[in-house]
Amino acid sequence: MPFSSFGLSSALLRAVADKAYSKPTPIQLAALPPALQGRDLLATAQTGSGKTVAFALPVLQRLEQAAPGTPRLLSALILVPTRELAAQVGEEIRNLGAHLSPPLKVSIVFGGVSINPQMMRLRGGTDIMVATPGRLIDLIAHNALTLANVTTLVLDEADRLFDLGFAEELARILSLLPAQRQNLFFSATFPPAVQALAQTLLRDPVRVTVASEPESAPDIVQRVIEVDVARRTQLLLHLIKQNHWSRVLVFVATKHAAEMVADKLRKGRINAEPFHGNLSQGKRTQVLADFKASRLKVVIATDVAARGLDIAQLPVVVNYDLPRSALDYTHRIGRTGRAGERGIALSFVSADSDAHLRLIEKNHSLSLAREQVDGFEPTSVAAPAAGLPESPANGGIKGRRPSKKDKLRAAAAQTQR
Ligand code: AMP
Repeated sequence: MPFSSFGLSSALLRAVADKAYSKPTPIQLAALPPALQGRDLLATAQTGSGKTVAFALPVLQRLEQAAPGTPRLLSALILVPTRELAAQVGEEIRNLGAHLSPPLKVSIVFGGVSINPQMMRLRGGTDIMVATPGRLIDLIAHNALTLANVTTLVLDEADRLFDLGFAEELARILSLLPAQRQNLFFSATFPPAVQALAQTLLRDPVRVTVASEPESAPDIVQRVIEVDVARRTQLLLHLIKQNHWSRVLVFVATKHAAEMVADKLRKGRINAEPFHGNLSQGKRTQVLADFKASRLKVVIATDVAARGLDIAQLPVVVNYDLPRSALDYTHRIGRTGRAGERGIALSFVSADSDAHLRLIEKNHSLSLAREQVDGFEPTSVAAPAAGLPESPANGGIKGRRPSKKDKLRAAAAQTQR
């Protein structure tokens, strides 16, 4: 079924063609018809599925039909959990709305940067707003906008909005919206808080769940390389140079590690920058822009970059440090292999972290072969899997390896039995 069969306006079809989207993704196939009819939607959708287009086209079509030339009364509000997602979604909507006439104004607002320029840009109104909840409330408090004319509300990555503690802000924003509106609700998972919100928010919603079909499942090769902790940076340098990787996203456990590894790569004449929550928003935006424009080869990031980021043509993701949880592993490796491209996800593992990796593998029913690179063979190897406890004393995947104290406690418990 081509995009032309949905009854989209010619301006929108032209923009879809500009983006070279030849056919709709499964989530777009399922979500576009009901959303274009004005129905509420409850969609299970992951980042990478094409969900942004699935809500952006109905939002744009509705505005195009409803208000050609009317004053810029904020009519479509899209709430997202993070600054990066706000920028990404806003850009996609601007691209898809590029041929609309008169042009629609799309505003992108998020916290962590000065509010004044955002207020200035809102003078004269806006048609569409993509916002993180906290900054939206600040702007309302400054009388920079009103939600009284919103006809479409989109919640994108609703589960993350809750994860990041936006429940109160969401409730306040919802209380300011007119009752009569279309709601498009997207979430990757449906924990109780998200279900409860969906129940109160949505009217007779169409449920859209797209099973990850083989053809839409990302094509990611997962590999594991054994290396001593102290030699990981050298190995990373070696791999980047030897494989001529054009763009690499490297995940580390701490902000300090991000700075340190980036510094060492730069000393090895690799263009690298850290990306973590302590950097200013300006710096984060700059790093991402440089990365996307190939001015930067390597980004060393904490898990702040694990979710939601969409970097086209990112062939390699490296877990320099393993993620804490199996879920974070999925999010991290999902940064590569997007929109039908192939990707490699490499994890470094040492004798100390092998048990943790086995738990991640178990959680995902994976069994990844351990590889070694010539010249970087580890001096110590992990204990064989059979010797590992099924469930460590500290409660599994999210935990750490038992400390000395944990082991002493376990030994004391043994002798008391
Ligand atoms: P999203 O799930 O919205 O983050 O989208 C993931 C990626 O898929 C983005 O890079 C989009 O540009 C791309 N994309 C969205 N729709 C299509 C389509 N129909 N065909 C090809 N790529 C698409």
